[in-house]
Amino acid sequence: MALIKCIECGKEISNEAISCPYCGYNKREVEAKEVMKKLKSKFRPHYKLMFFGIILIFVSNFFGGFKFPLIILGFLIVVISMISLFFSFITTMIKHMWKD
Ligand SMILES: [Zn+2]
Repeated sequence: MALIKCIECGKEISNEAISCPYCGYNKREVEAKEVMKKLKSKFRPHYKLMFFGIILIFVSNFFGGFKFPLIILGFLIVVISMISLFFSFITTMIKHMWKD
């Protein structure tokens, strides 16, 4: 066990302490929030792409149903954005796990 300085209040706390007993600064909580922020900013373009694909499916369905070639493009965009979303989620989680 070693003593480290709290990032928030600067008082010496145990490096094994999950939160600072003086100011309540929670290292794990802050880290988790940072990861969530990263995930959200990483996922945003994928969501937009997925949304675009869904719009495309609806529009082509409205105009000509499944015969309309745009619907294939719409489905492709949705599937691709789902796959890329999945992989970016996995890689972000793995990167964070390796950091510890
Ligand atoms: Zn503190």
